[in-house]
Amino acid sequence: MIRVAVFGAAGRMGATVCGAIADADDLDLVAAVDPVAAGRMIGDVVGIAGRSIVGPAALVEVAADAHGFEATGVQVAVDFTVASSARQNLAWCAENGVHAVCGTTGLSLDDRAELQRLFGDANAPNCVQAANFSIGAALMMRCAEICAPYIEGVEIIELHHDRKRDAPSGTALETVRRIETSRREHTTTHASLAADPTEQVMLVGTRGGVSEEGVRVHSVRLPGLVAHQEVIFGSLGETLTIRHDSFDRVSFMPGVLLAVRRVGETPGLTIGLESLLGF
Ligand code: NAD
Repeated sequence: MIRVAVFGAAGRMGATVCGAIADADDLDLVAAVDPVAAGRMIGDVVGIAGRSIVGPAALVEVAADAHGFEATGVQVAVDFTVASSARQNLAWCAENGVHAVCGTTGLSLDDRAELQRLFGDANAPNCVQAANFSIGAALMMRCAEICAPYIEGVEIIELHHDRKRDAPSGTALETVRRIETSRREHTTTHASLAADPTEQVMLVGTRGGVSEEGVRVHSVRLPGLVAHQEVIFGSLGETLTIRHDSFDRVSFMPGVLLAVRRVGETPGLTIGLESLLGF
């Protein structure tokens, strides 16, 4: 059994992760942290988020912080909080020999460098960090990477629920990075794209945010949505659209559980699910 703790246990993702860990035969939910639910039993807390936990895991008491975690013998900690908290929680994991699985978004490239420093040492525990734990989303980003050297025109539309705090989404930023890296690493075979034709912007922001290398990203926030993204490539007389939809947060669970099971044997910092999935 792998002994697992969850940071952000009362949140939408954290509650779903607690339920998935409690349901897995080879994983043991031994600790849960969330200041908004401190002192309550995790079984009651995830119930409010529409999830359920049966069995002894339901009786785990939610802690306000990681104080006293050592006594639970936790081996892997999962973080779905906010960027400012994730920085502290991941530093705690590194200092306390606990492997980390982090899905929190809003982390910058500087944060990534810090994670590399914290988890890169041979004696340090390991960390898997992914902006999106859905296997379908990992495949969407891989497809975008493959297309990037062949079609220059590309814009991304990401659509999320109305409680999301960061924009654009971590998935959109990661997709931009991969498209740009793929273009740099491969000889391009596409015709050069004309400059953006927009001369008059009648509504500020209408053309979206633009990356340093010119990829535009548009963020939609609406109730009813979960996590969705379209990558639209455009060329002479044709477009190619890659679309991924997460309709429920359970879509992230196979990827989270894969990372929890594999992080102990995956040295250092691993970004994204791709290497765990073998592509
Ligand atoms: P949420 O607001 O529902 O939950 C966040 C929870 O973290 C809250 O309950 C909050 O009280 C708690 N928290 C804050 N600081 C904490 C701390 N120091 N220790 C412990 N808990 C703390 O948010 P959410 O929708 O569950 O999303 C959480 C994060 O996961 C966001 O960054 C979101 O973008 C990201 N996310 C990632 C994926 C992925 O696949 N990687 C998928 C969905 C969401």
